[in-house]
Amino acid sequence: MEPATTLREFHQWSITDRDGFWREQAKLIYWHKPFKQVLDYSHPPFTRWFVGGETNLCYNAIDRHLDTQADKPALIFVSTETGVERTYSFRQLHQEVMRMAAIFQQLGVGRGDRVLLYMPMIPEAVFAMYACARIGAIHSVVFGGFASHSLASRIDDAGPKLIVSADGGMRGGRVIPYKPALDEAIELSSHKPTHCLLIDRGLAPMARTQGRDVDYEPLRQKHFGASVPVTWLESNEVSYTLYTSGTTGKPKGVQRDVGGYAVALAASMKHIYCGNAGETYFSSSDIGWVVGHSYIIYGPLLAGMATILFEGTPICPDAGILWRLVEKYRVTVMFSAPTAIRVLKKQDAGWLKKYDTSSLRALFLAGEPLDEPTARWITEGLGRPVIDNYWQTETGWPILTVAHGVEKTPPRLGSPGMPMYGYDVRLLDLETGEEVGPNQKGVVAIVPPLPPGCLQTVWRDDKRFVSTYFSTLPGKQVYSTFDWGIRDSDGYTFILGRTDDVINVAGHRLGTREIEESITSHPAVADCAVVGVSDPIKGQVAMAFAVLRDTKRGQSAEDRALLEKEIMTLVDKQLGAVARPTRVHIIDGLPKTRSGKVLRRSIQAICEGRDPGDLTTIEDPGVLEQIRKATAISIAA
Ligand code: ATP
Ligand code: MG
Repeated sequence: MEPATTLREFHQWSITDRDGFWREQAKLIYWHKPFKQVLDYSHPPFTRWFVGGETNLCYNAIDRHLDTQADKPALIFVSTETGVERTYSFRQLHQEVMRMAAIFQQLGVGRGDRVLLYMPMIPEAVFAMYACARIGAIHSVVFGGFASHSLASRIDDAGPKLIVSADGGMRGGRVIPYKPALDEAIELSSHKPTHCLLIDRGLAPMARTQGRDVDYEPLRQKHFGASVPVTWLESNEVSYTLYTSGTTGKPKGVQRDVGGYAVALAASMKHIYCGNAGETYFSSSDIGWVVGHSYIIYGPLLAGMATILFEGTPICPDAGILWRLVEKYRVTVMFSAPTAIRVLKKQDAGWLKKYDTSSLRALFLAGEPLDEPTARWITEGLGRPVIDNYWQTETGWPILTVAHGVEKTPPRLGSPGMPMYGYDVRLLDLETGEEVGPNQKGVVAIVPPLPPGCLQTVWRDDKRFVSTYFSTLPGKQVYSTFDWGIRDSDGYTFILGRTDDVINVAGHRLGTREIEESITSHPAVADCAVVGVSDPIKGQVAMAFAVLRDTKRGQSAEDRALLEKEIMTLVDKQLGAVARPTRVHIIDGLPKTRSGKVLRRSIQAICEGRDPGDLTTIEDPGVLEQIRKATAISIAA
């Protein structure tokens, strides 16, 4: 059915001729042994992509480029925390990965064994992930900012033979020791790893447990000339497990395959990100998140691009750091999160103009709704397309966006875009399971089979995979994203928030996202969260929390009261009085997960005087105290 010239046709092709479409995409990677079947869907909703094919993620990302660009940059490490900046060529990266793989083998790690990484953003983390991929071990990266309790539950779930960690990381100039948390976690967990491999950065003291803990550097020297061959894996073997962010409660262990993931990423690099070999990709995410897996570690290198590994924050040493790196490394594709851009928006806009960002082709943002004011601010500042990506840990790559490699569809402010090829996206009525019409709100659902790259199952829990994702909408077995969406008549889809983030005010169902959009359109507001709080008369009322931009506003109590009035008037005007929050509290920051997602559930719990739950995933617990105080005063008043 090729050639497709519009995104719509391309999408159509992927749905009506699934096998043909993905057979074509599978050519983007190297297969050691060709697959026998594109898709085995004999046990819905489980998918087995590229059955019988043998390949390897490490080979495709590194070895394959050695012939043509061995001495070109592959990994660019920048730490604004320690001042270290170092570039590894494909050849050097290849050597480091083989050293790490040899160490793993010496420590008894082989095909199918789990290796858990609890690491800061350092090159050794990249070596370790690729070493796993090379020898067929399964990595499970746990975000380095998690405390021992969260780490322990993930150790128990993954059951790793080996844990790779370091003495510490740094954030905003502060050393964060890792080893004490790791020791505590192993103490707490019922599963015990055989070994812990430790990278000593000289940042924090590190106690070693004899027999279990081993140092990386002497072993690296021992295996300096190591040559570890690639282990060819059947496409459906497990490449890794990764936990969802935990915004809505207990994180789920997403399990991913090898071949389907490699094909999905290679295809997205071509059609969505439009990155070319020899160029540089910069994703400011963390290796602990799915964006880090797909678009720091694997995606860019699969396309022969260099990838930047950044240890630092967007405002340190100043709010120009991201753009300075774009200029220095001639970055062509950049990936960040709305939350990072909102942090920058709080600062002086002049930073954007200080550096030459003309190498950039586009900036991609994902992870949270991209509100219009933020989108407009960054689009105008950069003078480049800013492309919203909507996806989940579960899917591994975008569900909704625009694909400029297929067609130059203009992005539409406030919408992540259109259903991507491979995803049969429908908006369904929560109660009836029927499709809703244009401009009507529905649950964003995907008619299975899910495309390559998406989760195979929940790690060690097929039942949970089916019951969590495929059994919540009446009628048919469809995958639920648990997000609300609405589609305009041109096919652009808008995300209205999570299905459990809906407020019911006197019988009116309001998405918190809509109210938040309205509040952030006030020029003094940088960020905000709205939650529904139970009310004896109205059922629920909307309570808003706003963080101000760095303007002169909000410094006195009088001005804060005035601001609150202005914001309420604005919401009245844009959405109607029913959406008006009962209070708009001005606070210094919002409680967010470490990946930058607002924890509306915790805010709501505090407002209703309930226990906010497990807070170990919160970035800055101090802001919860502010919310507690603010709401206590308002209740008293
Ligand atoms: P958990 O599933 O454990 O509650 P989580 O859903 O926050 O955590 P992720 O997989 O990291 O974990 O996040 C995916 C979710 O993030 C999406 O379902 C959606 O709610 C939100 N999201 C991601 N990208 C966008 C976007 N571009 N626009 C709006 N929302 C987005
Ligand atoms: Mg989720």
